[in-house]
Amino acid sequence: MPFKVGLTGGIGSGKSTVAEAFVALGAGLIDTDKIARRLTTIGGEALPLLADAFGAGILAADGSLNRALMRQKVFADAAARRRLESILHPLIRAHSLAEIAASHAPWLLIDIPLLVAVGREAYALDRALVVDCPESLQIERVMARSGLAEVEVVAMMSAQSSRAERLAIADDVIDNSGSLADLQRQVAALHPCYLKMASIQDASGQDMSKNRR
Ligand code: ADP
Repeated sequence: MPFKVGLTGGIGSGKSTVAEAFVALGAGLIDTDKIARRLTTIGGEALPLLADAFGAGILAADGSLNRALMRQKVFADAAARRRLESILHPLIRAHSLAEIAASHAPWLLIDIPLLVAVGREAYALDRALVVDCPESLQIERVMARSGLAEVEVVAMMSAQSSRAERLAIADDVIDNSGSLADLQRQVAALHPCYLKMASIQDASGQDMSKNRR
């Protein structure tokens, strides 16, 4: 089993940017958001289950998931959100574990936006890496990227785990309150550490999750 680092952070914290930088250095990437999209696109494995749970109206005319309607259904309804997650999470996990097992990368970064809710055990992670920045910067960056209004970004953030909850599960933290160059420097410093932990684990079967910061 390869050495696995779970990557999380709030929306706009810089997860995708960090993931891209690690991949450029040679890490393998499992992108759980991408897997979730594949499961819910036309012909996706989750669609019949979602149609059973929420009614056929949840599908768009082309047979893919009507994402806007799904978001609307779960936005203010915690029970509906739990139902959605109880369908999607096991499928995302199964597909991720299959990708993990098939990987030959020296170590794997697993991008899990909902890591706090899902739990590191679900992916048998060796480390948890959190990308962190002040909430005001998250809002600024998401607004610049998406054109969403501040209230919409704040609503999305309040549906996620809090900054403190994320930091509490972190073995390693990347501080993304500075420039992109600062971010790249932190990635470049962590990559050899993960390579080394991966090779130690490979040689001895040691559990690096015990070796916390
Ligand atoms: P996430 O994947 O966590 O939602 P992204 O990596 O997509 O976050 O980053 C959000 C936006 O902010 C992107 O447009 C990205 O280019 C930009 N960004 C990320 N880090 C920085 C930084 N240190 N300085 C300036 N812009 C940044």
